[in-house]
Formats: sequence, structure tokens, C-alpha cells
Amino acid sequence: MSPLARYTGLIERYRDRLPIDDDAEIITLREGNTPFIRLRNIPRRLAKEVQLYVKYEGLNPTGSFKDRGMTVAVTKAVAEGSRAIVCASTGNTSASAAAYAARAGLTAFVVIPDGKIAQGKLAQALMEGAVVIQIKGNFDDGLRIVKALVKEAPVTIVNSINPYRLQGQKTAAFEIVDDLGRAPDYHCLPVGNAGNITAHWIGYCEYAGAHGECLTSACLFCGGKCPYARNAVSDKRPVMVGYQATGAAPFMRGHMVDQPETVATAIRIGHPQSWEQAWKVQEESGGWFDECTDDEILAAQKLLAEKEGIFCEPASATSLAGAMRDIEGGKIAENSTIVCTLTGHGLKDPDAAIRQSTGPLLRVDATLAEVKRAILGNMA
Ligand SMILES: *Cc1c(COP(=O)(O)O)cnc(C)c1O
Repeated sequence: MSPLARYTGLIERYRDRLPIDDDAEIITLREGNTPFIRLRNIPRRLAKEVQLYVKYEGLNPTGSFKDRGMTVAVTKAVAEGSRAIVCASTGNTSASAAAYAARAGLTAFVVIPDGKIAQGKLAQALMEGAVVIQIKGNFDDGLRIVKALVKEAPVTIVNSINPYRLQGQKTAAFEIVDDLGRAPDYHCLPVGNAGNITAHWIGYCEYAGAHGECLTSACLFCGGKCPYARNAVSDKRPVMVGYQATGAAPFMRGHMVDQPETVATAIRIGHPQSWEQAWKVQEESGGWFDECTDDEILAAQKLLAEKEGIFCEPASATSLAGAMRDIEGGKIAENSTIVCTLTGHGLKDPDAAIRQSTGPLLRVDATLAEVKRAILGNMA
């Protein structure tokens, strides 16, 4: 794409690698094309030499990567004549579903856990006109109900079990290869339902495959012959690393978790829907899963904001928290290129940010002398 070309959304940009019919009405908010940023201050603090990048997905139209999947899922729902969409959500899927439904003129029904949703996400779903259904249960309960519901009601499910969601989300991997000129050595992501780590792997595999070659069994979309692998863009694929929150880490326990708990509400999930696929991603890429404590997650969130000026929500910082630990510990090789996905924007969850802020917030009289004293007393 020429730097001056008008960007019109990820479906137009990657149309030849997406399941979109020629005459489809595209429902877009110009999602994708998010900043790919090389960190400069955090790597200097690490004991090892690495090239560390973040993909800032918080700068999508509704503030999370969910928009990549939603533009494709809602475009398909419209093409199929659907009049309403439904999802269970820890927050970001509902914000995205509500926005794309509004754009398309559909009704969005969103099922969210009572109380455990970040304020910004709730505000979005309400403003964007979704019918918000709060249940006295967690995300896993919500998804179980929604999956049963769509067998009985004329609504399209837009959770990541909708295969079009992962098709849209795979474009993040395309963008990274296009920006970097090759695939990174490692790609680190926070893992909840494990849809996003699967989607990224599908994207990397399609970019590395040639002419119908299918390089992964984690993609359930086309069954062995990939219609989107046409010319190999990159010759390698990254090691995929998935990090979970300690209180919601079924991939570490080796089984589902019934009462997931973490400050990172976006990954407060105990029954991941892409369980089988994510294990294939781990195996095929030679990667691994690990867990981070809530304290580690919040510390990484703060460090990223303080040292790089990049504000992501707690769940997103899980990728960086885990990556920093594995760089220092040597699991991630020295001199390698690493990409951490920052899944959502920090403004989604102002409460979590303010709760852990340590200042300085100074209260002084409204005089030149007092303000000057506050400044001179706090110069670095
Ligand atoms: C949805 C979400 C995740 C988890 O992605 P999965 O595909 O469910 O693994 C992580 N972070 C944020 C901010 C999210 O919204």
C-alpha cells in the first residue's frame, strides 16, 4: 500500500485472503492498520539484547483487536440476511459487536458477567445501542447460554467460535510481516479463549505457504487446502508464546478452570473455546504457555505506560510481563526479534489504572510560588 493511499479497512486491504464475496456490502470502521512500535526504553533495562516490538491493537476503532474479527463476522452476517447478532463477552467483544451492529443497522444482544466488566467497555456497549444482558455468572456461563440460544433463536453468534472472527483477526499477522519485512522470531500474546493466538498462527502460516499449501491443522476453516495461500510472503514463522493470568490459566493446569479470577478481566476465562487449536499452535510453532500473576501484569502495564508512553489494559500487558521474564530467563533467545500484542486500550479500564497509581498527584494553592515549588521539588 502506498503511504499516501487512503486506508479503507482490513477487508479491502487483504480482500484476496479473506472469505468475502465480490458483491458483499462491507461493514467497516477502518479497523486494522494499527501502530507497530519498537520499544526503546524497556529493552535497555533488560539483561539481554533483543529487538522488542509491540502491536498496539488498542488503537482499533473500539479500542481492541476484536474489531478485526467483527468487521468480517458482521459483513458475513449482513450478507446472510441476519437481522441480529449476539455474543457473550468479558467486555471488548460486546463493545465491538455493538459498534459494528450499529453501523450495519442490526440489533446487538450482549451477555456480560455481572460486575466484572471494565467501565469503559460497558459504556461503549450502552452508548452504541446494544441490548445489554448482565448475568449472575461469569463469561463461561454466558457463552454456554449463548451457544444454546442460537440453536433456538434467529440471531448470529459473533463470539470467536464464529469462524469468520478468526479470519479477520489473522490479518494482524499479515500486517506485522508487511511492516517488519519478515516474520518475527517470537510472538507473545495474552490468552483467554485462545482465539487470537490461533488466528495469528493461521495468518503466519498463510503468509508462509505457497499456492494452496496448508501449513497448520489449527485452522478449521477450509479443511486442508488453503484458498488464501498463493505466494509465500515470508519464509519463516514465529514461535508462538501464550501467557495466561495465574487465576485463569487452564493451559497451565492442563484442564478447564471453574472459578477463574484475575484483575485482567478480558482474560478471566476458564473454559477456552479454542482449546484444541491453541495446543496445535503450541506444538506446530514450537512454542509454550506460561502464567503471570496479577502483580506482574499490573507492573508491566505501568512500566509500559511510564517508560514508553503506551497505555494498554491489564490483560494486554500479560504478553509483555511474560516476554520480559522469558527474555531475562533465557527461554527467549538473545538477539531475537519479539512481538508482543497489546490487545486493548488502557482507557477501557480507568479504575484498574487509578487504583494502582502511586502519584505524584500534588495538591497546591493556585499561586505561581506554590506551583513553582512543586515543579522544582520534583525535577528528575
Ligand atoms: C479478548 C481479549 C483477550 C483474549 O483473547 P482470546 O482470543 O480470547 O484469547 C485478551 N486481551 C483483550 C484486551 C481482549 O479483549
